[in-house]
Amino acid sequence: MKNPASPARTPGASVPPGGTLGVLGGGQLGRMFCHAAQARGYRVCVLDPLADGPAGAVADEQVLAAYDDPQGLDDLARRCSAVTTEFENVPARSLEHLERRLPVRPQAAAVAIAQDRLREKAYFVSCGVAVAPHAPILTPGDCEHLDPALFPGILKTARLGYDGKGQVTATGPAQLRAAWAELQCVPCILEKRMPLAGELSVLVARGADAKSCVFPVSENEHRAGILSVSILPARIDAAQAAQAQDIALRVAEGLGYVGVLCVELFALADGSLLVNEMAPRPHNSGHATIEACVSSQFDQQVRTLAGLPLGDTSLRSPAVMLNLLGDLWFDGQGQPRAPDFAAVMGVPGACLHLYGKAEARPGRKMGHVTVLGPRLDLALERARAVAAILHLALPASLAAPDRGS
Ligand code: ADP
Ligand code: MG
Repeated sequence: MKNPASPARTPGASVPPGGTLGVLGGGQLGRMFCHAAQARGYRVCVLDPLADGPAGAVADEQVLAAYDDPQGLDDLARRCSAVTTEFENVPARSLEHLERRLPVRPQAAAVAIAQDRLREKAYFVSCGVAVAPHAPILTPGDCEHLDPALFPGILKTARLGYDGKGQVTATGPAQLRAAWAELQCVPCILEKRMPLAGELSVLVARGADAKSCVFPVSENEHRAGILSVSILPARIDAAQAAQAQDIALRVAEGLGYVGVLCVELFALADGSLLVNEMAPRPHNSGHATIEACVSSQFDQQVRTLAGLPLGDTSLRSPAVMLNLLGDLWFDGQGQPRAPDFAAVMGVPGACLHLYGKAEARPGRKMGHVTVLGPRLDLALERARAVAAILHLALPASLAAPDRGS
């Protein structure tokens, strides 16, 4: 065969297998994207300002450059046929720069909205989906005369927040002024702290042909603002699951989105759902889809980027994902210890992922374990065994009795 990657062999694909896909960002999401792309016969080129990142270590090629370096971006564009992102704070202008050269999925305009909590909330409102009561805090005057119903609230920086960073609680107007000063008086949003019955997320994949598909709803537990556990499928009733999926599809549709989008939701005690935020990329809460679904969130990212048909999002098995933070590499006294990964791998259904990061630091995402089971209660039981091996404080969602799925 002279040209095994010729487009004629993959009708309809804008980038047939054998081509090179680009990814902006070199973290674990990029690493898992590389694995999925390479499994389909693609080459991957990563742009990352750091050498030896989790994605760079497995990519076929790397451009070592800052996200806003025009030469680095041009170099990436020369080497690839289409580009995606794994790092949502890539400057939207860099994506616009690339868009003049090649397909960029998701598109700069959608990423720009997701990067700014104020624009994001306004977009959700325009879609007619419910959000928590909120107010922009842009000037000292914005801290005055606020609706008292917004307190207690959470002040969040409009940009660059992740894993609960850039968030300060404000119980009243005086504390709000102090909280804003603590956040350097950058543009912020004040959100009412909602009484959460639970947290959910939904991943959507949408192609350039406007076809979309939605994954089963994930139930998420956070600890100190960082995802701790995801349970797939969420232990909620079918009507609420359908509503969550419908909201996520509507959000993707309204953006004319192409790629993989994650929509985070709050479930309230009365059964209603609020949209919290969206991530314009695969998401930590979707890692279980690698083993638990026919097509994973990363496989869908490859498909939407390359112009291939969407994959099958059906659940192959219930699953529980445990995040492995750097804290596990230290004992209660802060002394280093080696997690017993061999024992974890001995637990039936446990699928260990480590991201190849050399240094463990508290709060740093080092890996995850997805635990499969023929039934969710068995997956939960096995996840409890994994948590015990790793000295992981038992998350409440694992300790709680099965809420009847
Ligand atoms: P990040 O970008 O850091 O993920 P989020 O807005 O998702 O920021 O906040 C992180 C976590 O903080 C949420 O998953 C949730 O547990 C909690 N949280 C955020 N906003 C609210 C709110 N308005 N009410 C209650 N809890 C909240
Ligand atoms: Mg979040």
